[in-house]
Amino acid sequence: MTTDRLDRVRRRLADLDVGALLVGPSADLRWLVGYQAMPLERLTMLVVPADGDPTLLVPTLERARAEASGAADLVRVETWEETDDPIGRVADRLADADATQGPLAVQDQLWTSFTLALQARLPGAEWRAGSTVTSPLRQVKDAGEVAALHAVGAAIDEVHAGVADLLRPGRTEAEVGTDIAAAIRATHDDVAFVIVASGPNGASPHHELSSRVIEDGDPVVVDIGGVLDGYCSDETRNYVLGSVDPEYQDLHDVLEEAQAAGVAAVRPGVTAASVDAAARAVIDDAGHGDQFIHRTGHGIGVDGHEEPWIVAGNDTELVAGMAFSVEPGIYVAGQHGARIEDIVVVTDDGVAAANHRPRGITVA
Ligand code: ZN
Ligand code: ZN
Ligand code: ZN
Repeated sequence: MTTDRLDRVRRRLADLDVGALLVGPSADLRWLVGYQAMPLERLTMLVVPADGDPTLLVPTLERARAEASGAADLVRVETWEETDDPIGRVADRLADADATQGPLAVQDQLWTSFTLALQARLPGAEWRAGSTVTSPLRQVKDAGEVAALHAVGAAIDEVHAGVADLLRPGRTEAEVGTDIAAAIRATHDDVAFVIVASGPNGASPHHELSSRVIEDGDPVVVDIGGVLDGYCSDETRNYVLGSVDPEYQDLHDVLEEAQAAGVAAVRPGVTAASVDAAARAVIDDAGHGDQFIHRTGHGIGVDGHEEPWIVAGNDTELVAGMAFSVEPGIYVAGQHGARIEDIVVVTDDGVAAANHRPRGITVA
């Protein structure tokens, strides 16, 4: 890693007239300095002032992990002992950079206990969400990040290629999920999530795993993701055990058309909302509009869900390097559901998918 991202954050702080960005254990921290810090009750905080050098403050017992991450090549690593006051140390670093009066940006996932302590310590400061600083930068991927997203996309394609063999009548969702997790572990560094939603469970978009026994004829929504070299995968396909019910096939045909329409709408210069509208129009026209109960997609990168949100009302203009899911779904409560999800990357003149599995129903 280089200090390029830190430099861009500092330029943005200056543009926004924000004195400093305070970052705890999070995707922002990994993106900035490559350190996967443990979220602990002991404070770990990267202090990035608009003016002045950044400091990574870590508990002494975490120093070895922080240094092993390579963060010490990019920023000064400063440790605090068990009886020190780490919030006071953050205030000292802000004072060194003339940033104590703020406004100060505090990273979105910082524990409230730390934010409240900072606010008590710096009563004169105004506070901003850290994402106002980092999201516009993080959502446009550089060439290395795009390559990482394609690599992790290929890895999850490989897992999906083996899913049909794991789906057999009489197995539970949990048993299938355990096998899928093992396959993700074999192709990624980490498992992020495993959704195996069979029969009526498919109507709940974030159903994970249950002890439900999968039966002949069941549709099964399989939405899975992992992390490889720090970047996330996320891909959904629909399977049916045995023969496909014609009503489910019709619903899936609509969905396949909607997903393709969403992807076809992606290019630089259009809004995020227009991609949602393109996918939604197909489902609306087929009379399933009220069964498509979520946005069309979400950005992805070092976080599984990040900006840009592909949703009505988001006028963010797409630019080359943005990466997000296109994942319309149709959910029929009490019966079944289906969702097709690919990660796509905006290119200079259109779009490139990071997932390439067949998008039709796979019969298992
Ligand atoms: Zn989701
Ligand atoms: Zn997904
Ligand atoms: Zn997703």
